[in-house]
Amino acid sequence: MNYKESIEKYEQLQGHKALQLRAVLFDMDGVLFDSMPFHADAWSQVMTEAGFNFSREDVYMNEGRTGADTINTASIAQFGHPSTPEQIEALCKAKCDIFATYPPTPRMPGALELIEKVKACGLTPMIVTGSGTPTLLDRIQSNFPGLFDENHIVTSFNVKRGKPYPDPYLLALEKGGFAPNEAIVVENAPLGVTAGVAAGLFTIAANTGPLKDSVLSNAGASLVFPSIQALCDEWDNLYAALS
Ligand code: CA
Repeated sequence: MNYKESIEKYEQLQGHKALQLRAVLFDMDGVLFDSMPFHADAWSQVMTEAGFNFSREDVYMNEGRTGADTINTASIAQFGHPSTPEQIEALCKAKCDIFATYPPTPRMPGALELIEKVKACGLTPMIVTGSGTPTLLDRIQSNFPGLFDENHIVTSFNVKRGKPYPDPYLLALEKGGFAPNEAIVVENAPLGVTAGVAAGLFTIAANTGPLKDSVLSNAGASLVFPSIQALCDEWDNLYAALS
């Protein structure tokens, strides 16, 4: 992969100043935690039981949306109208109930080492997630102890419009005090990539799920890695190109 070329292409496209990296904005599910197989199982089960044609792949295509957005998008596609608030509440609860029966989600291989490398470069790591579970902060602190400041985490509680809108990433820039040319995004999902690009950020994808790489590059990812471990292994080379 030619990093310099991808970076120059991004700078031309966005028309802003050259990258001066100060922060790395990480998505959470499918990037820091290997949680997507669980989400895919739980959502596809609940949606199928409710009469939707909703496969595990559909879960990955909708990844990043809030629960309500996911259900409404599926309902409009299949029935031509959004779901009722009652159905949305019931389906979200059913999904959470199933999810709660699963074992704790493991850390993504390579994620801890990658964050440590980012920190060692003097950069600020942030988390930007569409998730909003009550135990989220505890889970981050126990898996990545001392690596993320609480003020450097954006969750679904903080924004009205989730991904693929740029809002979560724009809020992260605001919270951290960074300009768009001072941060990059690490995402695993097409809608997350769309959100990062819409916020004007250089967006890297790690393809940790079943979708084709082209789905992520078509969404606007400047670089696509096969895994977080691969991104971690390449970090020094990539950072040299970014600096
Ligand atoms: Ca994700």
